[in-house]
Amino acid sequence: MTRTTPPRPLDLAAVFPELATMSRNVTRLHPRSGSPGVEDSSVGGPLLWPRDEPWPTCTKSHEVYEVVDLDAVRAAHHATVARWSRSEDEPSTPEEEAIYDRSKPKKVDSPHTDPVPLLPVAQLYARDVPGLPTPDGADLLQILWCPFMDHEDDMPAIRVRWRRADEVTAGLSPAPEPSVIELEDYWPAPCVLHPEQVTEYPDLNQLPAAVGARVHAWQEETGHHYTEFAVAPGWKTGGWGVVSSDEPDCADPPRCACGAVTEPLFTVGPGEWNGNNRGGWRPVEDADADDRHCYPPVGGATKIDLGDEQLQIYRCPESCEHPPVIVRVYQTL
Ligand SMILES: [Zn+2]
Ligand SMILES: [Zn+2]
Repeated sequence: MTRTTPPRPLDLAAVFPELATMSRNVTRLHPRSGSPGVEDSSVGGPLLWPRDEPWPTCTKSHEVYEVVDLDAVRAAHHATVARWSRSEDEPSTPEEEAIYDRSKPKKVDSPHTDPVPLLPVAQLYARDVPGLPTPDGADLLQILWCPFMDHEDDMPAIRVRWRRADEVTAGLSPAPEPSVIELEDYWPAPCVLHPEQVTEYPDLNQLPAAVGARVHAWQEETGHHYTEFAVAPGWKTGGWGVVSSDEPDCADPPRCACGAVTEPLFTVGPGEWNGNNRGGWRPVEDADADDRHCYPPVGGATKIDLGDEQLQIYRCPESCEHPPVIVRVYQTL
């Protein structure tokens, strides 16, 4: 089923004509619970990975003293899906309770220093995702992250891999994976995608000063929040990037080590429709979804929770070999 963002409840370009030249395409990925395979675009699905290519690992130090068992997290998720599909009010069985117990955090004596296999986060085939900026004939984007966020530099460890799908003649299966992870919130539940291209405008702090001043005045006058209508929430590719930072130097796109201004590639947003659907981003097909009575919630099917933060991956337009720039932004919506 496709997902369709309804017509914008408020046409920002009509209110602020200057915005007409600042619109950008963004592709909302619309992750929803499913069972993707290596041939599918996915969040939390298996990656099409050559058997003879080393699986990426994180070699940073992991200063954590509590971990969760990845197999148990996965089993608990599937047990909860099964239980809710019977009835949300039905108590868990003793077998399910045992599964939930195994998925609770457990203490470990020493920090993890061994290389940690990265977790697949997303796999995007160019055929599915309009506007994907594929370099050098690549048609597949793969994103993996370390299941520990608690690194010394306070930044997640993320790998971005572009490839040509037809060059993978023998796939790696099963892929290596970490036995334990820092939090269950860093394991993406398997989702299929329903990409849809829509229009985005710059966040308020990225607008030229004169337009920004008019938007501020308009917000005071009308009670509207500009960003709610301008910036698409949730998981997406492209668009405008950094949002909701009040620090002036965070309004510019970050630079690659080579000096080039980077471009937004991929965003992990906390929810698909700004809580109570502020800005009107909930797709028409999900109009009747009631996230209080389904598991996983339709608007948060990946189960990824970065604590109200957005995680944004920027790419260097000069070379896909240059490491991505990672930005974490507190989401105020
Ligand atoms: Zn790590
Ligand atoms: Zn660069």
